[in-house]
Amino acid sequence: MFRSAALKLTAWYLAIIMALSIGCSLALYQVSSHDLSQNTHRQFPFFTQLLTPNDLRDFTNLRQSQLNEARDHLKGNLVLFNLVVLVAGGLASYALARKTLQPIEDALESQKRFTGDASHELRTPLTAMQSEIEVALRDKSLTKADAVELLKSSLEEVGKLKALSDGLLRLAQGNKIAIENRIVSLKAISKEAVERTSPLADNKKITINNKTKDLLVSGDSSSLTELLVILIDNAIKYSPKGSTVNLSTKHTGKLASITIKDTGMGIKSEDLPKIFDRFYRADHARSKDGASGYGLGLAIAQKIVEAHHGFIEVKSTHGKGSIFTVSLPTA
Ligand code: ADP
Repeated sequence: MFRSAALKLTAWYLAIIMALSIGCSLALYQVSSHDLSQNTHRQFPFFTQLLTPNDLRDFTNLRQSQLNEARDHLKGNLVLFNLVVLVAGGLASYALARKTLQPIEDALESQKRFTGDASHELRTPLTAMQSEIEVALRDKSLTKADAVELLKSSLEEVGKLKALSDGLLRLAQGNKIAIENRIVSLKAISKEAVERTSPLADNKKITINNKTKDLLVSGDSSSLTELLVILIDNAIKYSPKGSTVNLSTKHTGKLASITIKDTGMGIKSEDLPKIFDRFYRADHARSKDGASGYGLGLAIAQKIVEAHHGFIEVKSTHGKGSIFTVSLPTA
């Protein structure tokens, strides 16, 4: 599809280049040939006085043939020039067409990959639910307790699917994430994020040590809270029971940063460059009991940070823990 679009675009570019080149060549030919004949005619009065009528006729014929020769020479040069323009313009047009279409091709490719990954992630829990329900329906001795159990497990899957679709929607919003641009206190949003993640922390008896200071950044408080929830949620998910997660802030120049540090399983160095990719989950995360997720959290976190003109960094030692730092311009 892109090959034929590139060829069409090349044809258009080339048509424009050739129209300009041929137009200019015609104009140049007209002007030059007019000048040549003007020059020739300007010499006649002078030679009329010097030459006999016979010599003058011969001279006129000679000048006319010289004029025709000069015109033919000019024509030949212009045709050659246009052939060179055609070849060079064709190559340049193709290169330009490819360059013009490349970002569209990349966007379409990434859209396709996104749709493919999303459908794969949606299919797995749906298939599991479908087979569980089918088996239960075929079971003649299904008790009410079994049915309740099935409904509970289906509800759990539905909850996960809802979380997945929320994540997909959030990612689809792209760079339009920061809607409001208000002054936001890192202390206030971290307090809110800690509150929201406390049920999960309590479940694993994890202490969250919040030592954030009242640093101010500008942005959307609900998106920034969501960003901290993702990072704290991960710190809890990938840490052992009874451990501690530390939150701290720092002010350097025009940047305010907030750090979330855990002493959990850490991330292998080969996984580090990929953890911000959508749907990426390190193997340990997939096999870890209770560490549910679809690998969308950090991709969303990065989008939120980018929408706030900030950046996110991660340092991690496998088996020892991870440190995520988000730096944002101060208000
Ligand atoms: P999810 O947590 O849903 O799997 P994320 O996008 O939030 O997806 O994270 C991507 C992957 O990065 C996780 O699957 C996990 O392997 C790794 N990861 C993220 N945060 C941590 C952390 N604090 N400690 C260890 N691994 C982490």
